Amino acid sequence: MKLLISQALVIPMTQEGLSFRGDIGIDGKHIAFVGVKPAHFVPDQVIDGSSFLAMPALVNAHTHLSMELMRNYKDNLPTLQAWLAEIFPVEDKLQEEDVLRASRLGVIELIQSGVTTFTDMYFHPQATAQAVLEGGIRASIGITLFGSLAENKERVLQREADLRFYREHPDGRIQVDCAPHAIYTCPKETLQYAHDWAKDRQRILHIHVSETKQEVQDSLHQFGKTPLEYLYAIGALDGVRSLIAHGVHLTDAEVALLADMDATLVHNPSSNCKLSSGIAPIASYLERGVSVGLGTDGASSNNNLNMFEEMHIASLLGRVHTPTGTKLNPYQVLSMATVNGAKALGLERRIGMISEGMEADIILLDLKKSHLTPLNDPFSAVVYAAQASDVDTVLCQGKVVMQHRKVLTLDEEQTIKAVNESWDNIQRR
Ligand SMILES: [Zn+2]
Repeated sequence: MKLLISQALVIPMTQEGLSFRGDIGIDGKHIAFVGVKPAHFVPDQVIDGSSFLAMPALVNAHTHLSMELMRNYKDNLPTLQAWLAEIFPVEDKLQEEDVLRASRLGVIELIQSGVTTFTDMYFHPQATAQAVLEGGIRASIGITLFGSLAENKERVLQREADLRFYREHPDGRIQVDCAPHAIYTCPKETLQYAHDWAKDRQRILHIHVSETKQEVQDSLHQFGKTPLEYLYAIGALDGVRSLIAHGVHLTDAEVALLADMDATLVHNPSSNCKLSSGIAPIASYLERGVSVGLGTDGASSNNNLNMFEEMHIASLLGRVHTPTGTKLNPYQVLSMATVNGAKALGLERRIGMISEGMEADIILLDLKKSHLTPLNDPFSAVVYAAQASDVDTVLCQGKVVMQHRKVLTLDEEQTIKAVNESWDNIQRR
């Protein structure tokens, strides 16, 4: 199957500030060319791109997909700790079918906001993997560790077996990584086990770090070290690629440590604001050499999975919160949501840019909108003005998964009904 997107305004994310009008040719899963269509490329299908902006599909680098179920539930609590105390008892009642339904809803919501790749940390991960497979997108599914080593050891191996089918699927859209929840929910032995598992298999280690001041104070009290220093000291990050979610309250020494590691910090600005966790000084992290991605966190602390909104909020906070005087610019924010997110998942050679040889994960934004007129700077337009609802078409691995705002791979109406049923059942349990 050969697909041509003709004469779109292209933001390839291959070079700062680069945008141009051109053609994109897709052959099977991959991008065959970008720029001018060669005579020998005869497409089976043509999308007239003249009124669209084509850019890499977005990467949501930190979420808990099926927390969709707890959207708009127990909101406006004073702290992360108070909120978790309400959420954990509900999570104890979740069954695999609930997670499958909520994950389908999450996949639909992600596609509708231009996301084709996400990183997940949650229970019943095989159900989320199933929804990803059905939805035609990609994910890093984290096997979540929580509690003592004795509780986790057998479960991790069971989850690994449950997920083998998805990881080995020929489309190669699902990777299985390791997600110890946090230092305040996993003792040292569990963290070290997660590290060894990830290192042996060359997988990513995904963990919440320094989300709140309370977490940092507790860590200093209990271990005599800040959270990242503690993880480093026990060898939990040694020789693995790690994905550090939040990092709102890092010391200068921790920022230097992070810049030296094979790690990506994932900024979750909506969740950090909503749970009153604080504002991560992202511009200064970037200035000091930290790779930074972007995530929504779960829908119950956001309360949606809208990466356009996340880019907008990150941009605004990055303008006002400037301890070093450095401010975020739109290209940096767009990089966080594309190339840096791809790197966080080890996918930097496959997605995150529109460039020959990369896999074709591309979104088309409808430019015929009042709020995008006149367009002037396309980078500013995307992060400051565009809405998720401007995403008209989404391609993942060369396949169209949404066209004219309709998700083609999953049934939205049925899924909404099923999720409402699940939520009713959970409340009755
Ligand atoms: Zn989280």
